[in-house]
Amino acid sequence: MAKIFIPLPALSPVRKPSPSPAAVDALCVLLSTYIDLNVPTPQELLDLLPEDTFTAGTAQPAGKITAPRRLIPACFSPRYSAATPTASMRKLGPVAWHAVAEGLAEIHLPEPVDPIRLRWLHAPEYVDAFMAGKEPLASSQGWSWTPQIRDGVLAINGGQLLGAMLALEHGIAANIAQGFHHARPEAGGGYCTFNGLALVAQEFPDHKVMVLDCDEHGGNGTEEFTHRLPNLFNYSIHGTSFGMRGCKRSIRCTLPPVTGDFAPYRKALRNAFERADRWKPDLLLYQAGADPHIHDPLGTLGMTTEQMIERDRIVFEGCRERKLPVLFVLAGGYQEPIETELLPLHLNTFRAAHAVYMARA
Ligand SMILES: [Zn+2]
Repeated sequence: MAKIFIPLPALSPVRKPSPSPAAVDALCVLLSTYIDLNVPTPQELLDLLPEDTFTAGTAQPAGKITAPRRLIPACFSPRYSAATPTASMRKLGPVAWHAVAEGLAEIHLPEPVDPIRLRWLHAPEYVDAFMAGKEPLASSQGWSWTPQIRDGVLAINGGQLLGAMLALEHGIAANIAQGFHHARPEAGGGYCTFNGLALVAQEFPDHKVMVLDCDEHGGNGTEEFTHRLPNLFNYSIHGTSFGMRGCKRSIRCTLPPVTGDFAPYRKALRNAFERADRWKPDLLLYQAGADPHIHDPLGTLGMTTEQMIERDRIVFEGCRERKLPVLFVLAGGYQEPIETELLPLHLNTFRAAHAVYMARA
């Protein structure tokens, strides 16, 4: 069986002075439960950390992990971290690790989604081909199919459903993964396999689900699903439309570079929340893409790090003011090395969410 290595970068570049000891300890236990994967033991993980990082606490049982601080419920499984040519799935382990170590998130372990549910959402022949590794559909998302990628995608989509439940329960939650917004009913595309945003709408038919897609690329796949799912609304603010055309419940907002003037982006976010106020969703899915960043190889929006932080803050404050439950996902982001270029951007989204939801009374 192929081994999966969960990357565990040094904590020093992004670590805050006081990480949550119990949360770090709990993540070690969580990772160590995957004995069939090439995951370090808790002691090996502890040895990787600087001595003054924390004092070892009592081990928590695997599964739902609780920590003493107020933390963002975040779905993650070591299976998410499949080896992909792009950073797409390789980045997920480091983000999970640091979000926990920094005392921002607690990990909830999702079950892989049942492929039957995916066959209801997508063309059954596409789902069957992906499950069996049958080409060309199995690699239609843009990577060569592997069993690791298959298992990672199933776990990630399971995380979407658990994350939606957590968001409805707690007001905010994360899935440390992508939303797969380019995945269309008949096939994958743009490194997206099964559309985890549309999946939430399908599985919560009594809830109105709005997607606020702030990735560099338009959510063309999600747009197609709005024609099939009457409880799904897609609002996409992007630099690259990626085939989006816009329709009744899919708004396409294509912007030029915003490096020197962030006002158009602020206005687009304001318009998105005005739409939300009219449509009255029960749940917002926030695609917090890191690929609009000025240094991203696939980016055109030219957003600075500070502008991305402001974007996240506006979104989380908008949801909190309205008491609108929000599930956020990482979405795109392709800078490498991951640890120095990409990880800080995704962690900033966790920091913004934590600041808005957890650090305030
Ligand atoms: Zn993208």
